[in-house]
Amino acid sequence: PCDFKPQPYQVRGLYLRVTYYKKPVFINQGYMQWLWDVDGRRYLDLFAGVATVICCHKQLRRLWHTTAIYVYPQMQEYAEKLACLLPDPLKVVYFTNSGSEANDLAVLMARLYTGNFDVITLRGSYHGGSPQATGLTSNADYKYPIPSSMGCHNTMCPDVFRGLWGGSHCRDSPVQTIRECSCSPGHCQANDMYIRELKEMFATTVPNRIAAFFAEPIQGVGGAVQFPKNYLKDTYQLVREKGGICIADEVQTGFGRTGSHFWGFQGHNVLPDMVTMAKGIANGFPMGAVVTTAEIARSFGKGVHFNTFGGNPLACAVASSVLDTIKEDKMQENSTEVGTYMMTELAKLRDKYEIIGDVRGKGLQIGVEMVKDKASRDPLPPEAMAEIFEDTKDMGVLIGKGGLYGQTFRIKPPMCITKDDADFFLAVFTQAVQNYME
Ligand code: PMP
Repeated sequence: PCDFKPQPYQVRGLYLRVTYYKKPVFINQGYMQWLWDVDGRRYLDLFAGVATVICCHKQLRRLWHTTAIYVYPQMQEYAEKLACLLPDPLKVVYFTNSGSEANDLAVLMARLYTGNFDVITLRGSYHGGSPQATGLTSNADYKYPIPSSMGCHNTMCPDVFRGLWGGSHCRDSPVQTIRECSCSPGHCQANDMYIRELKEMFATTVPNRIAAFFAEPIQGVGGAVQFPKNYLKDTYQLVREKGGICIADEVQTGFGRTGSHFWGFQGHNVLPDMVTMAKGIANGFPMGAVVTTAEIARSFGKGVHFNTFGGNPLACAVASSVLDTIKEDKMQENSTEVGTYMMTELAKLRDKYEIIGDVRGKGLQIGVEMVKDKASRDPLPPEAMAEIFEDTKDMGVLIGKGGLYGQTFRIKPPMCITKDDADFFLAVFTQAVQNYME
């Protein structure tokens, strides 16, 4: 489907050193204790996807499970489809089962590739719940005093809402049409401030040994936090100068959720060295992936990446149909349309109600930050948040919560949501805010 040229050790997007055999075994079908390859050759399977298919191979049309020590069309086809959605040179795909595993793998590869150890992430970030990923994650609630957090550092979150200069300026957001950035182009004070903080970090905490910089293009758990316009661009440049690689965690922002772009990083005009993804990749079926460059993939050397379930045939088939559905049902476009509408209407509520401090996001990745009042910008206390949250639920709408202080409502619905659904939510949310204020 795209002009993708495999490297000698790749089969259309897949990095094949994972294979057990000199020549890859392409498994196509499975039934009971038997497997068939794409040429129709039958094998008695005495390894069961590495002791996983404990009952029997299922005839779920073709294949239920076999491990990625073999190759099968579902995995190959999906890897190719996914690689084609990413710009060059991001073409080598590794499969995992979750976002945490994808980020663990990304850290490992970054360390092997650069020979450095330290990793920088942003305050407010969430990168997963495994021992390593909790090291990347900044929020104290998820932190444990364990050695796997070693080498993980958080830099100041470039949150333009809470930043020194405040205001929702310098964000690539439809809401910007309501409140324009007041900085002259290329001279954003907020951006300068956060870059200065990072430079100080390089001068003090992590001199010359950075392996990777991780960031979600729009923070998810952090509360739909957006960055000043050139923040990621300038940061990527600085990190690369210091010998590190740049990783985009697209677990929440990928697959069209931000509307105008399929990947969140594209909204920042940057090209990461590695992209991690999960959640929406298979619409809830457990799956994750890391896509990187052939050069970085080589850093595994003679080693292997092995993951029993990663890239399971069924998961790949599901993920593949997810890509088809997003395209055929124009879900990315819908994300822009309904998301922009919702944010525009929410911005009107922000202007009307003292306790709605900020409305931000892009597409259907939306955050509504609640404050005590607009002058102080202090977070609305947890009890008040809970009251509005419960009230919204009682009126039939489920939303999320997030932000460092739990002060941000998070809206990231299925991308099939309609304008009528948005109106229903807006009416309910307005009522809940009014109920609280009365
Ligand atoms: N990265 C981000 C941005 C996330 O939001 C999450 C999950 N909330 C993860 C990584 C971890 O993904 P998982 O829960 O699938 O391990």
